[in-house]
Amino acid sequence: MSTTKKANPAMPDDLSNVEFETSEDIEVIASFDSMNLNEDLLRGIYAYGFEKPSAIQQRAIRPIIKGRDVIAQAQSGTGKTATFSIGVLQSIDIQTRETQALILSPTRELALQIQKVILALGEFMNVQCHACIGGRTLSEDIRKLDYGQHVVAGTPGRVFDMIRRRNLRTRSIKLLVLDEADEMLNKGFKEQIYDVYRFLPPYTQVVLLSATLPHEILEITSKFMTDPIRILVKRDELTLEGIKQFFVAVEHEEWKFDTLCDLYDTLTITQAVIFCNTKRKVDWLTEKMKEANFTVSSMHGDMPQKERDSIMKEFRQGKSRVLITTDVWARGIDVQQVSLVINYDLPNNRELYIHRIGRSGRFGRKGVAINFVKSDDIRILRDIEQYYSTQIDEMPMNVADLI
Ligand code: ADP
Repeated sequence: MSTTKKANPAMPDDLSNVEFETSEDIEVIASFDSMNLNEDLLRGIYAYGFEKPSAIQQRAIRPIIKGRDVIAQAQSGTGKTATFSIGVLQSIDIQTRETQALILSPTRELALQIQKVILALGEFMNVQCHACIGGRTLSEDIRKLDYGQHVVAGTPGRVFDMIRRRNLRTRSIKLLVLDEADEMLNKGFKEQIYDVYRFLPPYTQVVLLSATLPHEILEITSKFMTDPIRILVKRDELTLEGIKQFFVAVEHEEWKFDTLCDLYDTLTITQAVIFCNTKRKVDWLTEKMKEANFTVSSMHGDMPQKERDSIMKEFRQGKSRVLITTDVWARGIDVQQVSLVINYDLPNNRELYIHRIGRSGRFGRKGVAINFVKSDDIRILRDIEQYYSTQIDEMPMNVADLI
């Protein structure tokens, strides 16, 4: 969520008329007022600019507050962060400063964004929330944790480190949130998540969220969740009406660069994110764009955290408008002004496609996604199109009018 700008309070129709598949009949609560939230939290929600809960918020906040394990799927940009943030804030006891909720996410930037949302929604509650992420000094973490943090939002590696060192005490944790849950339970992270999980008190409530929850991930949830409420979206309802998807056929890899240059004016209408599949390619493309006198910025996981922070800051402020990046940016990052996503390379799996294009069209805004496809990529794109029952047409000449 962007915290520099107030959220758009308008509730677009396609965000309230969403169909879900739920594991049991669940209550739909149409207003924040009717959620029985504590007054200071409610004040924080309205002060943040929210007027009405989105579809997922209407369904998932109550079960979280009631202490149920919850699996919540909803399209990208429809308010999952506030869903678990409100759930967390309502569940903690502000009188003690013990850590009571732990929120894990796959990237440092996402953990920082979550921390900001918790602090903003909890503005009138006096909540302490620390972002426990790699790339920062250990001493700072230790100082903050020793002071006492109601909520910790972090990445698994650093969080586990702090738990092992006993600076993050887990005895009062009652709620574990895995944001981007399918990624967190995927090969790269699964072990680390279990490492952390083993240190949590028995009966810790678990909440999982993501726009994509493939079958194999749902299957393993039974290992650590108890009778969860499931709120799921059918595959053919996952792409958003508001995000128009196109492709440009580029016979050879070399043609992609010229195509991008031709599109530059379109990129800068608002803000754009360009995805490449490797860090090296991000560096290469950035260099090449700069040599051709285009202004671009770039970010990937091999950059020092300080640099990542300053690039994020500039992009969030709109000081830079075109960002070339890797999948470190694919999930969760919320910059409302992004209206165009370019897949310079097609993503390596179907889930990433949904997350990447979902960087545009936040909370019902318009978005455009353009895929650069080489001859042998067309097959992959058609597979994505079919899998999600969506439509990816050839890019029209007037694409700029759609932004
Ligand atoms: P998701 O996690 O589902 O991808 P986010 O939680 O990041 O989506 O929300 C996307 C954007 O929508 C954010 O900028 C957020 O501030 C805004 N938003 C979320 N819920 C509401 C609401 N109820 N009213 C207005 N704006 C909202």
